[in-house]
Amino acid sequence: MAVDAGGIASAVGEDLETGLRGEVIWPGDRGYDTARAVFNGMIDRRPLVMIRPVDASEVVRCITVARRHDLPLSVRGGGHSVAGNGVRDGAVLLDLTAMKALRVDPATRRVRAGPGLTLGEFDRATQALGLATTLGVVSTTGIAGLTLGGGLGWLNGRYGLACDNLISAEVATADGQLLRASAQENEDLFWAIRGGGGNFRVVTCFEYQLHPVDLVLAGVLSYPLEMAPRVLRFYDDFAKAAPDELSTAASLGLSPAGEPAVSVAVCYCGPIDEGEQLLRPLRRFQSPVDDGIQPMPYAVLQGARDEGFPFGRRHYWKSGWLREVTDGAIETLLRFLPQMPSCANSVGLQQLHGVASRVAPSATAFPHRAEQYDFCILSQWSEASYSDRNLQWTKALFEAMRPHLEQSVYVNNLGDEGQVRVQAAYGENYPRLAALKRTYDPDNLFRANQNIDPSTDTASGPK
Ligand SMILES: Cc1cc2nc3c(=O)[nH]c(=O)nc-3n(C[C@H](O)[C@H](O)[C@H](O)COP(=O)(O)OP(=O)(O)OC[C@H]3O[C@@H](n4cnc5c(N)ncnc54)[C@H](O)[C@@H]3O)c2cc1C
Repeated sequence: MAVDAGGIASAVGEDLETGLRGEVIWPGDRGYDTARAVFNGMIDRRPLVMIRPVDASEVVRCITVARRHDLPLSVRGGGHSVAGNGVRDGAVLLDLTAMKALRVDPATRRVRAGPGLTLGEFDRATQALGLATTLGVVSTTGIAGLTLGGGLGWLNGRYGLACDNLISAEVATADGQLLRASAQENEDLFWAIRGGGGNFRVVTCFEYQLHPVDLVLAGVLSYPLEMAPRVLRFYDDFAKAAPDELSTAASLGLSPAGEPAVSVAVCYCGPIDEGEQLLRPLRRFQSPVDDGIQPMPYAVLQGARDEGFPFGRRHYWKSGWLREVTDGAIETLLRFLPQMPSCANSVGLQQLHGVASRVAPSATAFPHRAEQYDFCILSQWSEASYSDRNLQWTKALFEAMRPHLEQSVYVNNLGDEGQVRVQAAYGENYPRLAALKRTYDPDNLFRANQNIDPSTDTASGPK
């Protein structure tokens, strides 16, 4: 245990010493630097102590200790938040990665899943029974942060967002209780955690509805970048006409061969022969350089993008919702893409549609219920010396794209961008979320997130 000048570490250490089965890691311990690292290599923060609880009662204990010593608390699931919200300087870091229990009930097609699971771990277990639910598209992401912010993935058109498939959650409260939130119990809280992020409670178990998903027809079509105007215009029309079973994405960046490219990716989760017919116009309107669309197990698709997002690279993202791929938006993208400072950068359009778009904006805390694309400039690089160039390019492209984007943004893409952007992420649901925050966490213990400030005057917006 570390000894600090003010004695806080010692006092916390004494509180944690007895009966805790989970690992406790202090500065100076072997493994401290590995344990405090998160996905985004730009984040270099030093918590006071890291605790890996093994069950819900230990989560409660850690919350109680942080509260007793008036220490900031941060909560980490998969550690993928680009803002690095899972780790804070001087905080008690509640690292949930040891809580990976998962139990599927094949009869009800429901699964109870621990908050330390990654998408890959979840998908592999449910796919063994031919079942799945909507999660994201990179398998190393954590189910916890993803679901609490919404959760947009390949099955959203057919089955809604990850948060739409949440049946219940077990939660640890700021005052040390364990509760269940569902449509029948603590309904307000259940509403708030489906899009309101980690602002309200620590979720110790998620229960999801699963669906039969086996082989999907999926893959990527790539074209040279100069084809982007024709490809993106066709893509926009095609995506808007897509049935719920077909979800799509488009991306601009470098192809695996290192050439500037525009690509279209699809996942059809209905009968394969119907999917083949449906995709024929997309595969034929223009010859692609590469056509990787084929039937594949859903779990294989879920791991297909992992290589492009290794742990520890530096990341800077800017994002907003895009309703239409206009000529102006395409012209702007083509102006900036040739100056991309890192070969790993990309610009993505991930489609939200179908079932996910038809839920009422006020039915859950996730407000962005419309047919649209999650537009995201995903800049990533390795060397610190490239940071300035990447930040400048990303900001300049985002400013140039602003007129084409909605004012709103997906909370799970946000960096450290200030309260106006946080409010844009919670949108029309912000006043209700702020009122619930005052009820459930008036002292703002859970503030290491895209924070809903309980002192917000909801009549006039955040202070
Ligand atoms: C490479 C990459 C790909 C992505 N792809 C997608 C995608 O396809 N679709 C999509 O929707 N999003 C996607 N995202 C965004 C992703 O949803 C967010 O980064 C999300 O926060 C990741 O969750 P996590 O548990 O890994 O993050 P963490 O950094 O561990 O946590 C993020 C936030 O959630 C809170 N939190 C975590 N666990 C809990 C808990 N148990 N209880 C309460 N609060 C908690 C944390 O305090 C923090 O504020 C992607 C991100 C990356 C980096």
